[in-house]
Amino acid sequence: MSEQQQEHPAPGAAVVVDEDVLEAPDRGSADELLDAGAHDPDDAMRHSAAHVMAEAVLALFPDARLGIGPAIRDGFYYDFDLPRPLTPEDLAEIERRMVDSVAADHVFVRRELDPDAGRAYFAGRGQDYKVEILDDLRSAARAAGQPEPVVSTYEHGPFTDLCRGPHVASTSHIGPFKLLSVAGAYWRGDEKRPMLQRVYGTVWATQEELDQFLWRREEARKRDHRRLGVKLDLFSFHDVSPGSAFWHPKGQRLWRTLETAMRELQDRRGYLEVSTPQLVHRKLWEQSGHWQHYSDDMFKLEIEKQTFSLKPMNCPESTFIYKSHTRSYRDLPLRLADYGGLHRNERSGVLSGLTRVRHFVQDDAHIFVRPDQLQDEIQALLGEVRESYGWFGLEPRLTFGTRPDKALGDPTLWARAEEYIGEALRLSGVPYRVKPGDGAFYAPKIDIQIEDALGREWQTATIQADLVMLPERFDLTYVDEHGQEQRPIAIHRAIYGSLERFIGVLTEHFAGAFPFWCAPIQAVVVPIADRHVAAGRELADVLRARKLWVEVDDSDNRMQNKIRVAQEQKVPYMLVLGDREVEARTVAVRRRDGAQEPPVGWDELADRLAAEAEARRP
Ligand SMILES: [Zn+2]
Ligand SMILES: [Zn+2]
Repeated sequence: MSEQQQEHPAPGAAVVVDEDVLEAPDRGSADELLDAGAHDPDDAMRHSAAHVMAEAVLALFPDARLGIGPAIRDGFYYDFDLPRPLTPEDLAEIERRMVDSVAADHVFVRRELDPDAGRAYFAGRGQDYKVEILDDLRSAARAAGQPEPVVSTYEHGPFTDLCRGPHVASTSHIGPFKLLSVAGAYWRGDEKRPMLQRVYGTVWATQEELDQFLWRREEARKRDHRRLGVKLDLFSFHDVSPGSAFWHPKGQRLWRTLETAMRELQDRRGYLEVSTPQLVHRKLWEQSGHWQHYSDDMFKLEIEKQTFSLKPMNCPESTFIYKSHTRSYRDLPLRLADYGGLHRNERSGVLSGLTRVRHFVQDDAHIFVRPDQLQDEIQALLGEVRESYGWFGLEPRLTFGTRPDKALGDPTLWARAEEYIGEALRLSGVPYRVKPGDGAFYAPKIDIQIEDALGREWQTATIQADLVMLPERFDLTYVDEHGQEQRPIAIHRAIYGSLERFIGVLTEHFAGAFPFWCAPIQAVVVPIADRHVAAGRELADVLRARKLWVEVDDSDNRMQNKIRVAQEQKVPYMLVLGDREVEARTVAVRRRDGAQEPPVGWDELADRLAAEAEARRP
């Protein structure tokens, strides 16, 4: 990932356990292929489970050719070249045989063979993929003028694999496990090579941990925003515009509510909103440095023999507005917010719901400050983060990335900026980690992560104190109190980050039951019979006049059905009207969790709900 991509969080940079397959990056080089994935204390057990799985598969399919079987986050996989696709019954049988192998407590024995003997061993068993790895390692060693590497194998019971280890002592050290799924995977991640069958499994030290993992996985499936987005009628995706959401009325309302909340916060903080063009000449990106590092990720167009691109970020355009006036030290901080639509050319194969998109909008802003204002401004920005994440009950976690080795700009200024940011972080009272060298090449930065209801971590917001990219490359200046020209610092900041991604994360975190203040439908009026519909419409108007989003269910459904439909749609309040309520101009209130409240007068209810929406509580 280039530095520019970190400039604002890429829309898909989350650390999540996918619903169907565990996280498993492609491996191409022979070295990567031989890496058992031992980077975490549990990985020796995970990888050992992969060996035991390969033992079982080889017993069932003696002609199976083996790819690789590394440990991955929360589990393991092994790639197999098999005569036919695996069925669920096969997986059950493989699992059963694995249980036997674990019970047999086979010891893992490491052996070393000289290169020729090692190659002959795997060639003699028809294991072409293993031979290919060995041949690659051999040529790499030769090319580097190094001695040919010895071949190490691990053997347990009847099974031997090409492997660098490490492993657990014996198979009985493998805890409770479960095979999860089978997916196609190209050998070495190369679509010109054979498609193998990748079997995923998960293994844990205790049954309790395995049960918890399986629960989280099932829960993640239920909460998947792609499913909920359709069920709650929020958005859809269509192949005419891959990676770009079509926002339905309810999704658009949710979007607007979030945007309005952030705009109000920004208004209070003295932001000025601007809007800058979508289609921008390449010379702008050459000046900012994006063309050199980032142009593969941009959509380009030829117009009148000139190259333009759709903007992947708003940053450089803000400088045109900055430079439209001579700026004095008194004009700073200048806070320019820009909700511009952004496009990034993500490969179609990696697009995924709202979390990996081609078109998105950030609650983006560029704040130009004098160096002596940096600390206060960062502190205020951390206050913005705390306030806005509080609307959702989310606890932000902060990471402070400091000067990388290849940083641009004056080291003294870097040191001073880092000192100011460090002080602002300490004063903010929010816990943070320091990641030395993790800043952007032009800016120390604060990344903000949240943990959702399933314990998954998402990177959302970013605050970067840009010393170089905008200030120097675009020659920004202000006139100080002595009439001298000085360089401002440009702070890049996005609090939600990408609105698309933030909505995707919120949808899963709340499983679609959004907090009242941002719920796309806040209340449904449920007339018990037809004769109550007119009063129901009247009640809805009373609530709409208080800026509440209300619908009337005037369908032929019975009351219980109307309530069930509203509950499935996760509507916070159901307002039930019968003869008595209509007569007294009251309404019986039911909450989405099933709790019921005594009848309340219409105006009193309107006051209460309007205050609740205003308070923006999670
Ligand atoms: Zn191994
Ligand atoms: Zn920016």
